[in-house]
Amino acid sequence: MDQLISASQDTIAAIATAVSPGQGGIAVIRVSGPAALETAQVLVRCPGNPSWDTHRIFYGHVVDASGEGRLDEVLVLLMRAPRSFTGEDVVEIHCHGGVIAVQQVLERVLAQSGVRRALPGEFSQRAVLNGRLDLTRAEAVSAMVSARSRRAAELAMSGMDGGIQVRINGLRERLLDQLTELEARVDFEEDLPLLDGEAVLRELAAVREELLALIADGERVQVLSQGLRLALVGRPNVGKSSLLNRLSRRERAIVTDLPGTTRDLLESEIVLEGVPVTLLDTAGIRSTKDAVELLGIARSEEAMASADLVLLIVDGHVGWTDADAELLERIPEHVPHLIVANKADLPAVVCPVPVDVHLSALDGRGEDQLVQAVLHRCGASEAAGVLLALNQRQRDLAATAACALARSHEAAAETLPWDFWTIDLREAIRALGEITGEELTDAVLDRVFSRFCIGK
Ligand code: GDP
Repeated sequence: MDQLISASQDTIAAIATAVSPGQGGIAVIRVSGPAALETAQVLVRCPGNPSWDTHRIFYGHVVDASGEGRLDEVLVLLMRAPRSFTGEDVVEIHCHGGVIAVQQVLERVLAQSGVRRALPGEFSQRAVLNGRLDLTRAEAVSAMVSARSRRAAELAMSGMDGGIQVRINGLRERLLDQLTELEARVDFEEDLPLLDGEAVLRELAAVREELLALIADGERVQVLSQGLRLALVGRPNVGKSSLLNRLSRRERAIVTDLPGTTRDLLESEIVLEGVPVTLLDTAGIRSTKDAVELLGIARSEEAMASADLVLLIVDGHVGWTDADAELLERIPEHVPHLIVANKADLPAVVCPVPVDVHLSALDGRGEDQLVQAVLHRCGASEAAGVLLALNQRQRDLAATAACALARSHEAAAETLPWDFWTIDLREAIRALGEITGEELTDAVLDRVFSRFCIGK
């Protein structure tokens, strides 16, 4: 370790569940640190004065500051150090959901001496510092919480199972073995058998190849966490709303509406084959007689400019019109597009521009081709076989390691002495150690945990 870092002695507290008025039957407040147990004992009145044994659940009421009024009826989970998420004494207070009860209880918790509000990611950070969690698993927990599709959750789960940790550690160990060999030669060249430089280089190259493959996989699945923005544009009545409704019925349980987004742009989130897709629809643009407004051009342009892909929907029964040409013209050059001829259940008029997909939003024909075309055009179809997903931070470090290994080849080509090789090799080992947390510095911790949400 470059630097010894230890968890602070403060007790921290935060609401660990989503807070929303009228929503969620239960809300959990998590308290971690030396004052956690006493906080629970002071705040919660339990019938029969139980002995506070670890890994037990207690029933009681949180009382107000006067000790008279009851604020909420709760369950308390007690997990004494070191057998807890953070490795410290942890108390979870399960109150009622919504907003008010949980806020009142949190205020009472924070009023106890030695207790303060947790920073984003602080629980996970303590778990890492106390050796309860390695960095890649902590990051996977965060990825799980923010997963927007089943496929993204599946990849997060493999990280939580330690897939990334095991893989990167394995590569790091292989480099450490080579470093040991080289270092021995630096100090005791004459006492040891001759080192096969070619074999060392082959091993370094093999590790580098594996790193590059992991980076490429990570890039392929980035779309799963980032999602796609898909703009649906077209003249009124070509079937945009019908298509949107049809697509929304695919991975049904996770369809959400995003209310209160741009005034005239309807955004809804759906999932296509594991990829979270934000659909930008220029709905509600037919209420005016102004020719330009009728096309909703201003709004369509807004949608198109912020999209990863534009679907230009035309009415295949009516055929290509000047208005379609006008919209096509306005699709920004850098944004890819697909031309979709809708109403394929009706007789078609031949279209002068190449049509990518023939579709019927009414009966569903062509829908699968459309989905495949969308995923293919956005590079999302390549995400299918990937098992481990390095995040951006991990990919940057893997790339640093791969570069350092490439440099060690140069040193060998120039037949520089062993100690020149070890400089680059050490750099590669350090970078891989930063991925897993074997090399833990303040900078690493900041970079990882600043992205977490509060209560994690
Ligand atoms: P929008 O103005 O582009 O959103 O179009 P709508 O989705 O509201 O559709 C306009 C009209 O076309 C409605 O009466 C739909 O029922 C009809 N429509 C939409 N898609 C199809 C289709 O694939 N085939 C047929 N026959 N009618 C469709």
